[in-house]
Amino acid sequence: MQYFSTNHRSPQAAFREAVLRGQPEDGGLYFPAAIPQLPDGFIAGLDARSNEEIAFDVIRPYVGRSIPDDKLFDICRETASFPFPLVPISDKISALELFHGPTLAFKDVGARFMSRCLRHFSSEREAKTIVLVATSGDTGGAVANGFHNVEGIEVIILYPKGRVSTVQELQLTTLGGNVTTLELRGTFDECQAIAKRALADAELQKQAFITSANSINVARWLPQQFYYFYALKQWEGGPPPVVAVPSGNFGNLASGVLANISGLPVARFIAACNANDVVPEFFETGDYRPKPSVSTLSNAMDVGDPSNFVRILEMFSGKTDGLKARMSAASISDERTAETIREVHRNYGYTLDPHGAVAYAAIADYIEANPDTRGIILETAHPIKFDSVADILGVEVTAPDSIGELFTKEKSVTELDADYNSVREVILKKAK
Ligand SMILES: *Cc1c(COP(=O)(O)O)cnc(C)c1O
Repeated sequence: MQYFSTNHRSPQAAFREAVLRGQPEDGGLYFPAAIPQLPDGFIAGLDARSNEEIAFDVIRPYVGRSIPDDKLFDICRETASFPFPLVPISDKISALELFHGPTLAFKDVGARFMSRCLRHFSSEREAKTIVLVATSGDTGGAVANGFHNVEGIEVIILYPKGRVSTVQELQLTTLGGNVTTLELRGTFDECQAIAKRALADAELQKQAFITSANSINVARWLPQQFYYFYALKQWEGGPPPVVAVPSGNFGNLASGVLANISGLPVARFIAACNANDVVPEFFETGDYRPKPSVSTLSNAMDVGDPSNFVRILEMFSGKTDGLKARMSAASISDERTAETIREVHRNYGYTLDPHGAVAYAAIADYIEANPDTRGIILETAHPIKFDSVADILGVEVTAPDSIGELFTKEKSVTELDADYNSVREVILKKAK
Protein backbone atom coordinates (compact mmCIF):
# COMPACT_ATOMS: atom_id res chain seq x y z
CA MET A 1 0.00 0.00 0.00
CA GLN A 2 1.20 3.48 -0.87
CA TYR A 3 0.30 6.56 1.17
CA PHE A 4 -0.11 10.02 -0.29
CA SER A 5 0.02 13.30 1.57
CA THR A 6 -3.30 15.09 2.05
CA ASN A 7 -1.43 18.24 0.98
CA HIS A 8 -0.38 16.50 -2.28
CA ARG A 9 3.09 18.04 -2.43
CA SER A 10 5.23 15.29 -0.86
CA PRO A 11 5.94 12.03 -2.70
CA GLN A 12 4.00 8.86 -1.87
CA ALA A 13 5.47 6.51 0.72
CA ALA A 14 5.12 2.82 1.54
CA PHE A 15 3.85 1.84 5.02
CA ARG A 16 7.38 1.50 6.43
CA GLU A 17 8.44 4.95 5.33
CA ALA A 18 5.16 6.52 6.41
CA VAL A 19 5.60 5.06 9.92
CA LEU A 20 9.23 6.13 10.25
CA ARG A 21 8.57 9.63 8.95
CA GLY A 22 5.33 10.15 10.84
CA GLN A 23 4.32 13.17 8.80
CA PRO A 24 5.05 14.09 5.17
CA GLU A 25 7.33 17.10 4.74
CA ASP A 26 4.57 19.20 3.19
CA GLY A 27 2.74 19.20 6.54
CA GLY A 28 -0.17 17.05 5.35
CA LEU A 29 -1.11 13.63 6.72
CA TYR A 30 -0.44 10.26 5.13
CA PHE A 31 -3.55 8.69 3.63
CA PRO A 32 -3.90 5.28 1.93
CA ALA A 33 -3.91 5.51 -1.87
CA ALA A 34 -6.84 3.07 -2.03
CA ILE A 35 -9.22 2.00 0.73
CA PRO A 36 -9.28 -1.81 0.72
CA GLN A 37 -12.67 -3.52 0.50
CA LEU A 38 -13.36 -6.43 2.82
CA PRO A 39 -14.13 -9.74 1.13
CA ASP A 40 -17.79 -10.90 0.92
CA GLY A 41 -18.87 -12.74 4.03
CA PHE A 42 -16.25 -11.08 6.24
CA ILE A 43 -18.82 -9.45 8.51
CA ALA A 44 -21.11 -12.50 8.66
CA GLY A 45 -18.05 -14.54 9.61
CA LEU A 46 -16.78 -12.27 12.43
CA ASP A 47 -18.38 -14.50 15.04
CA ALA A 48 -16.21 -17.43 14.20
CA ARG A 49 -12.92 -15.51 14.22
CA SER A 50 -10.57 -14.52 17.00
CA ASN A 51 -9.78 -10.85 17.63
CA GLU A 52 -6.20 -11.30 16.45
CA GLU A 53 -7.34 -12.92 13.20
CA ILE A 54 -9.75 -10.07 12.56
CA ALA A 55 -7.00 -7.53 13.31
CA PHE A 56 -4.63 -9.25 10.91
CA ASP A 57 -7.15 -9.38 8.05
CA VAL A 58 -8.13 -5.74 8.53
CA ILE A 59 -4.60 -4.32 8.70
CA ARG A 60 -2.77 -6.57 6.23
CA PRO A 61 -3.68 -4.65 3.04
CA TYR A 62 -2.50 -1.41 4.70
CA VAL A 63 0.89 -2.84 5.64
CA GLY A 64 1.54 -4.68 2.39
CA ARG A 65 5.07 -5.96 2.06
CA SER A 66 6.53 -3.65 4.73
CA ILE A 67 6.22 -6.41 7.38
CA PRO A 68 6.20 -10.17 6.68
CA ASP A 69 2.86 -11.90 7.45
CA ASP A 70 4.11 -14.02 10.35
CA LYS A 71 5.61 -10.93 12.07
CA LEU A 72 2.47 -8.92 11.41
CA PHE A 73 0.34 -11.65 12.93
CA ASP A 74 2.47 -11.57 16.10
CA ILE A 75 2.08 -7.79 16.24
CA CYS A 76 -1.71 -8.13 15.95
CA ARG A 77 -1.78 -10.75 18.69
CA GLU A 78 0.21 -8.54 21.06
CA THR A 79 -1.97 -5.53 20.19
CA ALA A 80 -5.37 -7.19 20.72
CA SER A 81 -4.30 -9.00 23.86
CA PHE A 82 -6.99 -7.64 26.19
CA PRO A 83 -10.82 -7.80 26.14
CA PHE A 84 -13.05 -5.32 24.27
CA PRO A 85 -16.46 -6.06 25.78
CA LEU A 86 -19.69 -4.52 24.48
CA VAL A 87 -21.63 -3.83 27.68
CA PRO A 88 -25.34 -2.91 27.58
CA ILE A 89 -26.13 0.24 29.59
CA SER A 90 -29.81 0.69 28.70
CA ASP A 91 -31.96 -1.27 26.25
CA LYS A 92 -30.93 1.14 23.49
CA ILE A 93 -27.34 2.05 24.31
CA SER A 94 -24.30 -0.15 24.86
CA ALA A 95 -20.72 0.81 25.72
CA LEU A 96 -17.78 -0.63 23.85
CA GLU A 97 -15.26 -0.62 26.69
CA LEU A 98 -11.84 0.24 25.34
CA PHE A 99 -10.22 0.59 28.75
CA HIS A 100 -9.12 -2.94 29.58
CA GLY A 101 -5.57 -2.41 28.34
CA PRO A 102 -2.50 -1.57 30.45
CA THR A 103 -3.15 2.19 30.81
CA LEU A 104 -6.95 1.90 30.89
CA ALA A 105 -7.58 3.90 27.70
CA PHE A 106 -8.10 3.21 24.00
CA LYS A 107 -4.76 4.75 23.06
CA ASP A 108 -3.17 1.50 24.27
CA VAL A 109 -4.25 -0.13 21.00
CA GLY A 110 -2.50 2.30 18.66
CA ALA A 111 0.52 2.64 20.93
CA ARG A 112 1.06 -1.11 21.19
CA PHE A 113 0.70 -1.62 17.47
CA MET A 114 3.03 1.23 16.59
CA SER A 115 5.71 0.23 19.10
CA ARG A 116 5.91 -3.23 17.65
CA CYS A 117 6.09 -1.90 14.09
CA LEU A 118 8.95 0.36 15.15
CA ARG A 119 10.70 -2.55 16.85
CA HIS A 120 10.49 -4.45 13.60
CA PHE A 121 11.79 -1.54 11.54
CA SER A 122 14.52 -0.58 14.00
CA SER A 123 15.95 -4.09 13.89
CA GLU A 124 16.82 -3.20 10.30
CA ARG A 125 18.63 0.01 11.35
CA GLU A 126 21.81 1.00 13.12
CA ALA A 127 20.96 3.95 15.36
CA LYS A 128 18.87 3.61 18.47
CA THR A 129 15.31 4.87 18.21
CA ILE A 130 14.32 7.50 20.73
CA VAL A 131 10.61 8.02 21.24
CA LEU A 132 10.05 11.49 22.63
CA VAL A 133 6.56 12.35 23.88
CA ALA A 134 5.15 15.44 25.53
CA THR A 135 1.93 14.59 27.33
CA SER A 136 -0.84 16.27 29.25
CA GLY A 137 -1.70 12.87 30.74
CA ASP A 138 -3.31 10.14 28.67
CA THR A 139 -1.21 9.83 25.55
CA GLY A 140 2.11 9.62 27.35
CA GLY A 141 1.01 6.73 29.53
CA ALA A 142 -0.21 4.68 26.59
CA VAL A 143 2.89 5.38 24.52
CA ALA A 144 5.30 4.74 27.39
CA ASN A 145 3.54 1.50 28.21
CA GLY A 146 3.32 0.43 24.57
CA PHE A 147 7.06 0.90 24.13
CA HIS A 148 8.06 -0.40 27.56
CA ASN A 149 10.80 -3.02 27.24
CA VAL A 150 10.60 -2.97 23.45
CA GLU A 151 14.12 -3.72 22.27
CA GLY A 152 16.14 -1.04 20.49
CA ILE A 153 13.93 1.77 21.76
CA GLU A 154 14.41 4.40 24.46
CA VAL A 155 11.34 6.36 25.58
CA ILE A 156 11.54 9.87 27.01
CA ILE A 157 8.34 11.35 28.43
CA LEU A 158 7.88 15.03 29.24
CA TYR A 159 4.97 16.13 31.39
CA PRO A 160 4.07 19.33 33.23
CA LYS A 161 4.66 19.03 36.97
CA GLY A 162 1.50 18.95 39.03
CA ARG A 163 -0.89 18.95 36.08
CA VAL A 164 -1.73 15.29 35.51
CA SER A 165 -4.11 13.14 37.59
CA THR A 166 -2.89 10.81 40.34
CA VAL A 167 -3.34 7.65 38.31
CA GLN A 168 -1.85 9.21 35.19
CA GLU A 169 1.24 10.29 37.09
CA LEU A 170 1.77 6.79 38.47
CA GLN A 171 1.37 5.32 35.00
CA LEU A 172 4.02 7.73 33.71
CA THR A 173 6.56 7.29 36.47
CA THR A 174 6.54 3.64 37.55
CA LEU A 175 7.62 1.83 34.39
CA GLY A 176 11.40 2.16 34.63
CA GLY A 177 13.55 0.14 32.22
CA ASN A 178 13.79 1.91 28.88
CA VAL A 179 11.33 4.62 29.94
CA THR A 180 12.78 7.90 31.27
CA THR A 181 10.26 10.33 32.72
CA LEU A 182 10.98 14.04 33.02
CA GLU A 183 8.70 16.21 35.08
CA LEU A 184 9.14 19.76 33.83
CA ARG A 185 8.45 22.87 35.87
CA GLY A 186 6.20 24.39 33.23
CA THR A 187 3.05 23.98 31.20
CA PHE A 188 2.05 21.31 28.70
CA ASP A 189 2.63 23.79 25.89
CA GLU A 190 6.23 24.27 27.03
CA CYS A 191 6.74 20.50 27.13
CA GLN A 192 5.37 20.24 23.63
CA ALA A 193 7.53 23.08 22.34
CA ILE A 194 10.64 21.33 23.70
CA ALA A 195 9.67 18.05 22.04
CA LYS A 196 9.05 19.81 18.73
CA ARG A 197 12.39 21.58 18.91
CA ALA A 198 14.21 18.30 19.52
CA LEU A 199 12.47 16.69 16.53
CA ALA A 200 13.63 19.58 14.35
CA ASP A 201 17.19 19.67 15.77
CA ALA A 202 19.29 18.40 12.84
CA GLU A 203 22.47 18.20 14.92
CA LEU A 204 20.70 16.03 17.48
CA GLN A 205 19.07 13.86 14.83
CA LYS A 206 22.57 12.92 13.58
CA GLN A 207 23.20 11.18 16.87
CA ALA A 208 19.87 9.48 17.39
CA PHE A 209 16.77 8.70 15.38
CA ILE A 210 14.06 10.62 17.24
CA THR A 211 10.36 10.11 16.65
CA SER A 212 7.31 11.49 18.43
CA ALA A 213 5.03 8.42 18.13
CA ASN A 214 2.49 11.07 17.32
CA SER A 215 -1.22 10.30 17.10
CA ILE A 216 -1.20 11.20 13.41
CA ASN A 217 1.22 8.35 12.65
CA VAL A 218 -0.50 5.75 10.43
CA ALA A 219 0.73 2.99 12.77
CA ARG A 220 -1.32 4.52 15.57
CA TRP A 221 -4.27 5.55 13.43
CA LEU A 222 -5.03 2.45 11.36
CA PRO A 223 -5.14 -0.26 14.10
CA GLN A 224 -7.90 1.73 15.82
CA GLN A 225 -10.22 0.15 13.25
CA PHE A 226 -9.91 -3.21 15.01
CA TYR A 227 -12.31 -2.61 17.85
CA TYR A 228 -15.09 -1.30 15.62
CA PHE A 229 -15.11 -4.83 14.18
CA TYR A 230 -15.07 -6.31 17.69
CA ALA A 231 -18.17 -4.20 18.43
CA LEU A 232 -20.02 -5.59 15.41
CA LYS A 233 -18.92 -9.10 16.34
CA GLN A 234 -20.84 -8.67 19.61
CA TRP A 235 -23.79 -6.74 18.13
CA GLU A 236 -26.94 -8.84 18.41
CA GLY A 237 -28.58 -8.78 15.00
CA GLY A 238 -31.05 -6.15 13.86
CA PRO A 239 -30.10 -3.06 11.89
CA PRO A 240 -26.54 -1.74 12.19
CA PRO A 241 -25.83 0.47 15.21
CA VAL A 242 -25.39 4.22 15.42
CA VAL A 243 -21.89 4.75 16.86
CA ALA A 244 -20.97 7.78 18.99
CA VAL A 245 -17.26 8.55 19.35
CA PRO A 246 -15.89 10.99 21.95
CA SER A 247 -13.64 13.09 19.77
CA GLY A 248 -10.69 15.41 20.24
CA ASN A 249 -8.15 15.06 17.46
CA PHE A 250 -10.59 12.85 15.53
CA GLY A 251 -8.19 9.94 14.99
CA ASN A 252 -10.54 7.46 16.62
CA LEU A 253 -13.54 8.59 14.60
CA ALA A 254 -11.50 8.69 11.38
CA SER A 255 -10.57 5.04 11.87
CA GLY A 256 -14.23 4.10 12.40
CA VAL A 257 -15.26 5.85 9.20
CA LEU A 258 -12.41 4.12 7.37
CA ALA A 259 -13.64 0.71 8.61
CA ASN A 260 -17.14 1.68 7.53
CA ILE A 261 -16.00 2.56 4.00
CA SER A 262 -14.15 -0.73 3.74
CA GLY A 263 -17.36 -2.62 4.53
CA LEU A 264 -18.22 -2.45 8.25
CA PRO A 265 -21.98 -1.84 8.66
CA VAL A 266 -22.69 1.27 10.75
CA ALA A 267 -25.95 3.23 10.50
CA ARG A 268 -24.32 6.58 11.32
CA PHE A 269 -21.46 8.06 13.27
CA ILE A 270 -21.87 10.79 15.83
CA ALA A 271 -18.85 12.98 16.50
CA ALA A 272 -19.31 13.73 20.18
CA CYS A 273 -17.38 16.82 21.26
CA ASN A 274 -17.18 18.87 24.43
CA ALA A 275 -17.21 22.69 24.39
CA ASN A 276 -14.42 22.54 21.80
CA ASP A 277 -16.90 22.66 18.95
CA VAL A 278 -14.94 23.38 15.75
CA VAL A 279 -16.37 20.29 14.05
CA PRO A 280 -19.99 20.61 15.22
CA GLU A 281 -19.81 24.21 14.04
CA PHE A 282 -18.45 23.06 10.69
CA PHE A 283 -21.44 20.73 10.34
CA GLU A 284 -23.77 23.60 11.02
CA THR A 285 -22.18 26.41 9.04
CA GLY A 286 -19.90 24.70 6.51
CA ASP A 287 -16.97 26.80 7.78
CA TYR A 288 -14.00 25.13 9.41
CA ARG A 289 -12.63 27.67 11.86
CA PRO A 290 -9.94 26.50 14.30
CA LYS A 291 -9.93 28.26 17.67
CA PRO A 292 -7.88 28.10 20.87
CA SER A 293 -8.90 25.13 23.01
CA VAL A 294 -10.86 25.56 26.23
CA SER A 295 -10.47 23.33 29.33
CA THR A 296 -13.27 20.89 30.10
CA LEU A 297 -13.99 17.81 32.22
CA SER A 298 -13.18 15.60 29.22
CA ASN A 299 -9.70 17.08 28.90
CA ALA A 300 -8.30 14.55 26.41
CA MET A 301 -10.73 16.15 23.94
CA ASP A 302 -9.72 19.76 24.54
CA VAL A 303 -8.56 20.37 20.99
CA GLY A 304 -9.19 23.54 19.03
CA ASP A 305 -7.89 22.38 15.64
CA PRO A 306 -8.32 18.60 15.36
CA SER A 307 -5.37 17.19 13.45
CA ASN A 308 -7.13 14.14 11.97
CA PHE A 309 -10.25 15.87 10.68
CA VAL A 310 -8.57 16.35 7.32
CA ARG A 311 -8.51 12.54 6.97
CA ILE A 312 -12.29 12.45 7.38
CA LEU A 313 -12.68 15.17 4.74
CA GLU A 314 -10.38 13.18 2.47
CA MET A 315 -12.67 10.13 2.77
CA PHE A 316 -15.55 12.18 1.41
CA SER A 317 -13.43 14.05 -1.15
CA GLY A 318 -14.24 17.21 0.78
CA LYS A 319 -17.96 16.89 -0.09
CA THR A 320 -20.12 17.91 2.85
CA ASP A 321 -23.25 16.17 1.50
CA GLY A 322 -21.61 12.76 1.62
CA LEU A 323 -20.18 13.57 5.02
CA LYS A 324 -23.54 14.62 6.47
CA ALA A 325 -25.19 11.45 5.17
CA ARG A 326 -22.78 9.36 7.27
CA MET A 327 -22.15 11.54 10.30
CA SER A 328 -23.58 14.07 12.69
CA ALA A 329 -21.75 16.12 15.28
CA ALA A 330 -22.73 17.41 18.70
CA SER A 331 -21.18 19.66 21.33
CA ILE A 332 -21.93 18.78 24.97
CA SER A 333 -21.32 21.20 27.86
CA ASP A 334 -19.56 20.30 31.11
CA GLU A 335 -22.85 20.75 33.02
CA ARG A 336 -24.55 18.22 30.76
CA THR A 337 -21.53 15.87 31.00
CA ALA A 338 -21.70 15.87 34.80
CA GLU A 339 -25.49 15.48 34.73
CA THR A 340 -25.13 12.50 32.37
CA ILE A 341 -22.57 10.82 34.65
CA ARG A 342 -25.01 11.21 37.57
CA GLU A 343 -28.08 10.10 35.61
CA VAL A 344 -26.53 7.01 34.08
CA HIS A 345 -25.09 6.01 37.44
CA ARG A 346 -28.45 6.49 39.14
CA ASN A 347 -30.63 4.86 36.46
CA TYR A 348 -28.42 2.01 35.29
CA GLY A 349 -25.65 1.62 37.86
CA TYR A 350 -23.04 2.25 35.16
CA THR A 351 -20.12 4.61 35.79
CA LEU A 352 -19.17 6.64 32.73
CA ASP A 353 -15.94 8.57 32.46
CA PRO A 354 -16.28 12.21 31.28
CA HIS A 355 -15.34 11.33 27.67
CA GLY A 356 -17.81 8.45 27.45
CA ALA A 357 -20.42 10.69 29.07
CA VAL A 358 -20.09 13.22 26.23
CA ALA A 359 -20.78 10.39 23.76
CA TYR A 360 -23.68 9.11 25.86
CA ALA A 361 -25.39 12.50 25.95
CA ALA A 362 -24.90 12.93 22.19
CA ILE A 363 -26.31 9.51 21.29
CA ALA A 364 -29.20 9.86 23.76
CA ASP A 365 -30.27 13.05 21.94
CA TYR A 366 -30.01 11.31 18.60
CA ILE A 367 -32.06 8.31 19.72
CA GLU A 368 -34.71 10.55 21.22
CA ALA A 369 -35.12 12.20 17.82
CA ASN A 370 -34.88 8.84 15.99
CA PRO A 371 -36.67 6.39 18.30
CA ASP A 372 -36.22 3.35 16.06
CA THR A 373 -32.44 3.38 16.40
CA ARG A 374 -30.07 1.73 18.85
CA GLY A 375 -26.44 2.43 19.30
CA ILE A 376 -23.00 2.09 20.77
CA ILE A 377 -20.79 4.60 22.55
CA LEU A 378 -17.04 4.12 22.72
CA GLU A 379 -15.96 4.25 26.37
CA THR A 380 -12.45 5.54 25.73
CA ALA A 381 -11.04 5.49 29.27
CA HIS A 382 -11.74 4.04 32.70
CA PRO A 383 -13.47 6.51 35.07
CA ILE A 384 -10.80 5.91 37.73
CA LYS A 385 -8.38 7.94 35.59
CA PHE A 386 -10.31 11.14 36.21
CA ASP A 387 -10.50 12.51 39.74
CA SER A 388 -13.61 14.49 38.68
CA VAL A 389 -15.87 11.41 38.46
CA ALA A 390 -15.76 10.63 42.18
CA ASP A 391 -16.41 14.32 42.91
CA ILE A 392 -19.42 14.39 40.60
CA LEU A 393 -20.93 11.17 41.96
CA GLY A 394 -19.97 11.74 45.56
CA VAL A 395 -18.83 8.12 45.77
CA GLU A 396 -15.49 6.45 45.11
CA VAL A 397 -15.05 4.80 41.72
CA THR A 398 -14.27 1.09 41.93
CA ALA A 399 -10.70 0.63 40.80
CA PRO A 400 -9.60 -2.24 38.56
CA ASP A 401 -6.96 -4.58 40.06
CA SER A 402 -4.11 -3.13 38.02
CA ILE A 403 -4.47 0.21 39.81
CA GLY A 404 -3.63 -1.29 43.20
CA GLU A 405 -0.43 -2.63 41.73
CA LEU A 406 0.50 0.86 40.48
CA PHE A 407 0.53 2.20 44.01
CA THR A 408 3.04 -0.44 45.11
CA LYS A 409 5.55 0.30 42.36
CA GLU A 410 8.55 2.51 42.79
CA LYS A 411 8.32 5.98 41.28
CA SER A 412 11.20 7.20 39.18
CA VAL A 413 11.12 10.69 37.76
CA THR A 414 13.56 13.54 37.22
CA GLU A 415 12.42 17.07 37.84
CA LEU A 416 13.85 19.71 35.52
CA ASP A 417 13.20 23.28 34.44
CA ALA A 418 11.25 23.53 31.21
CA ASP A 419 14.51 24.26 29.42
CA TYR A 420 15.50 22.85 26.04
CA ASN A 421 19.18 22.25 26.74
CA SER A 422 18.58 20.23 29.92
CA VAL A 423 16.21 17.93 28.05
CA ARG A 424 18.59 17.71 25.09
CA GLU A 425 21.33 16.49 27.41
CA VAL A 426 19.13 13.66 28.63
CA ILE A 427 18.31 12.68 25.06
CA LEU A 428 22.00 12.57 24.12
CA LYS A 429 22.81 10.41 27.11
CA LYS A 430 20.05 7.95 26.20
CA ALA A 431 21.14 7.81 22.55
CA LYS A 432 24.52 6.32 23.46
C1 LIG B 1 -7.36 10.88 23.19
C2 LIG B 1 -8.67 10.65 23.83
C3 LIG B 1 -9.89 10.95 23.18
C4 LIG B 1 -9.93 11.63 21.83
O1 LIG B 1 -9.55 10.77 20.79
P1 LIG B 1 -9.18 11.37 19.37
O2 LIG B 1 -8.74 10.20 18.56
O3 LIG B 1 -8.10 12.37 19.59
O4 LIG B 1 -10.43 12.01 18.83
C5 LIG B 1 -11.08 10.61 23.80
N1 LIG B 1 -11.10 10.06 25.03
C6 LIG B 1 -9.96 9.78 25.69
C7 LIG B 1 -10.05 9.18 27.04
C8 LIG B 1 -8.71 10.04 25.12
O5 LIG B 1 -7.59 9.76 25.80
